[in-house]
Amino acid sequence: MSDTAEKHRIVIVGGGAGGLELATKLGKKFGKKGLADVTLVDATLTHIWKPLLHEVASGRRNPGEDEVSYLAHARANHFRFRLGRLESLDRTGKVVTMAPIMDEDGREMIPRREFPYDTLVISIGSITNSFGTKGVDENCVFLDSRKQADRFHKRLLNTFLRAHSRVGELEEGQLNVVIIGAGATGIELAAELHNTARQVVAYGLDKISPDQDVKLTIVEAGPTILPALPERISSGVLKQLRHIGVEVLTGVKVTEVVENGLNTETGEFIPAAIKVWAAGIKGADVLAKLDGLEVNRINQLVVRPTLQTTHDDNIFAFGDCAACPQKDNPRNVPPRAQAAHQQASMLVKSIASRLGGGGTLPEYVYKDHGSLVSLSEHTAFGTLMGNLTGDVMVSGRIARIIYVSLYRMHLMALHGPIATMLKVVTQWMTGRLRPALKLH
Ligand SMILES: Cc1cc2nc3c(=O)[nH]c(=O)nc-3n(C[C@H](O)[C@H](O)[C@H](O)COP(=O)(O)OP(=O)(O)OC[C@H]3O[C@@H](n4cnc5c(N)ncnc54)[C@H](O)[C@@H]3O)c2cc1C
Repeated sequence: MSDTAEKHRIVIVGGGAGGLELATKLGKKFGKKGLADVTLVDATLTHIWKPLLHEVASGRRNPGEDEVSYLAHARANHFRFRLGRLESLDRTGKVVTMAPIMDEDGREMIPRREFPYDTLVISIGSITNSFGTKGVDENCVFLDSRKQADRFHKRLLNTFLRAHSRVGELEEGQLNVVIIGAGATGIELAAELHNTARQVVAYGLDKISPDQDVKLTIVEAGPTILPALPERISSGVLKQLRHIGVEVLTGVKVTEVVENGLNTETGEFIPAAIKVWAAGIKGADVLAKLDGLEVNRINQLVVRPTLQTTHDDNIFAFGDCAACPQKDNPRNVPPRAQAAHQQASMLVKSIASRLGGGGTLPEYVYKDHGSLVSLSEHTAFGTLMGNLTGDVMVSGRIARIIYVSLYRMHLMALHGPIATMLKVVTQWMTGRLRPALKLH
């Protein structure tokens, strides 16, 4: 790709579930033929599909097998990748600026850089919302990035190793994990951790009893778990969680998290060595500082149904970082990989229309194809929604197969059918050769 100034410059900031699919499609459609200059900027060098992070955290998934190198992927798909973290925006000059990047020793590796654009797309995802609860930032683990999932995994292993090599009794809460938030992330993580506890013991840390020593608790402020899903599903999931020994506390508000546990509104103290906050999302602080672009109360960029930001036709935002209205629903489009995937596909058409000289842009309508919650290897529960089938409940093995196929769809969007098939076969074979749990 040459750096000619005449070409329409498309800059995408954030190469996640949505942004990387968009860059791939635009690269193939326009970059390859030299019709546009497509640049993807991300704060990290590799991509991993965010819905896999709880499996990375628990150790079931080795992230090295699933990560995509942005540089290599960009080369194969005719776009340019640059490492950078969104810092500021100049809408008049049509320039987006990335903060300097430091290396591990704190030395500047890449200086502050400016990227001029004709079309800017912001897709930097979301971060966990602590709702200002005291002690959360200092004492909780989050699952917003690969780095955090890796850190969690290491901490979990260290906790088990320490408990196994102890002299005498376990300390109070030494093997307790409390997850705050009973949405899909918290629940899926709890089920994975239940498995992990059994596997570490099977791999030799046999001074630990997974049933007596390890305690997994989910704390939810609302009256039910999985409030966004039908009651039949949440009750099925609840039953299964209790069956495998996960304690689920609903209607319990956490007021403060401290080093060795958390305090609730009713004055109860729940001891725990590891506290995971998975109770809601918000946009990163930088989004509120983008040259007057409108944000909502949780810091998402407010967009129109065309996914253009409300104050600037040349700037689009989508995925978790965008607040996109729905026509027949007072709620915004939910922050889900499904929505980011659909929006990326629509934006290819929108950008084609801009390159072709304008015209009316398509409007995004969220198509809910259903929701699935996986309980590790135990089972999965969910709904599937289709034009022909209507709303169908699924559970067990079939639901688990469909859940896995969601990731395959993302792989297909990135690599096409043949490479996806090869990846699936290779992973299956690698899975036979390595331990079922990542133990380092
Ligand atoms: C554990 C877990 C399980 C989930 N399970 C499901 C599920 O089963 N189904 C479902 O539909 N959804 C699920 N989700 C939600 C789903 O992951 C998100 O909705 C989806 O990833 C959003 O896509 P995105 O492209 O908006 O952002 P992301 O996929 O989060 O990507 C954001 C990208 O932006 C980059 N970035 C961040 N900040 C900056 C910055 N300042 N500058 C430059 N780059 C930046 C990041 O490195 C990342 O690559 C799950 C989420 C989690 C955490």
